[in-house]
Amino acid sequence: MFEKSLLCYRCGSRYPTSELMFRCPECGSSLEVEFDYPRLKRRMRACKDRPPGHMRYAELYPVKKPVTAGEGNTPLIRSKALERKLGLEFELWLKMEYQNPTGSFKDRGSSIEVAKALRFMDSGKQKKRRAVCASTGNMGASVAAYSGIAGVPCTIFTPADASAVKLEQILAHGADVYRIKGDYAAAAKMVESAYKEYGLYLLGDYLYRREGTKSVGFEIMDQLPGADYVVEPIGNGTLLSATWKGMKELRTMGFARKLPRLAGIQASGCSPVARAFMKGSAIRADKDPHTVAVAMECGDPLDGQRAYDAMKESRGFSASVTDKQILSAREILARRGGIFTEPAGAASLAGVIKSAEHIESGSRVVCVVTGHGLKTPYVGVEGSPKDIGRGRRTLARFF
Ligand SMILES: [Zn+2]
Repeated sequence: MFEKSLLCYRCGSRYPTSELMFRCPECGSSLEVEFDYPRLKRRMRACKDRPPGHMRYAELYPVKKPVTAGEGNTPLIRSKALERKLGLEFELWLKMEYQNPTGSFKDRGSSIEVAKALRFMDSGKQKKRRAVCASTGNMGASVAAYSGIAGVPCTIFTPADASAVKLEQILAHGADVYRIKGDYAAAAKMVESAYKEYGLYLLGDYLYRREGTKSVGFEIMDQLPGADYVVEPIGNGTLLSATWKGMKELRTMGFARKLPRLAGIQASGCSPVARAFMKGSAIRADKDPHTVAVAMECGDPLDGQRAYDAMKESRGFSASVTDKQILSAREILARRGGIFTEPAGAASLAGVIKSAEHIESGSRVVCVVTGHGLKTPYVGVEGSPKDIGRGRRTLARFF
């Protein structure tokens, strides 16, 4: 194993990797895993001979045996049809993260995070053999599936507006699920109490999830080494900051020279990071977040500062888009791109459409499409579709 220490993002305190902790005991900020990169670099030469995918850079994970359901290695395709439809002067590439096993990018993180939980439980460091997780739905479904594989019982708390389909998916994978009265921040508060007061293992956007999520950064660098922009939605900010961590790790070890610029998109009804980034001010939580893209409705994002810094370091950009712009991008993706995604999955394209005039012509722009469309009821720009035909009509009545 090549882990060196756990590092606090805010105060710089370091802790041994054997410690079971989710936040910095000094300042309460989020932690990250540091690796011994010079030693890793010597071992990593072999990885180039491995097939692309989540396990290609196995040494860069803090677990020996990830829990796997075949996550990662998702297609990255260029959509000329959408370039034409939208009149773009740059290349539009779509990274199909909704093709992961439970229909969202969350499976990369679950693969590592659940394996780590299992290790702490087996070693006796974690006494209670039950995990708890707050989720708008996608992470809950992913955590439920991977916990099922690992044999770890888990309980998921979702906000009031989580979609019924996602709750059914969580139940199908065998987890207990509770839809609470509040929003995501309230659900997150509940699970942190369950961890502190009842000693349950905390799954979510914490340090080990980032370590799995970062493989999307590895893959994009493998699939399109000359990418100029990578555009992702920001919910808790973990996806964007993990993508950046993965890319920087490749650069540190000499596997990549030029890294793309990162762009983070939020919904205008919940945009603490985008607002701060565009103003150049500090991030201030949104008290009453609301957007049709429920999967990114995190008013007080845990990794917001990291996402902000990733955009700044990479000289990227941020944008906030209205619900209408998100639904319109979703419709275009489905009708002209052959891709059916949930609203949050269309946010990156909505952000690119909004920011198109600031993107240099000829650039290669990757939009990460995060979650499957079947996970939420379909709402188009004009509302729910009302034209589903009924049977027992003669053909002539259709045309
Ligand atoms: Zn700290």
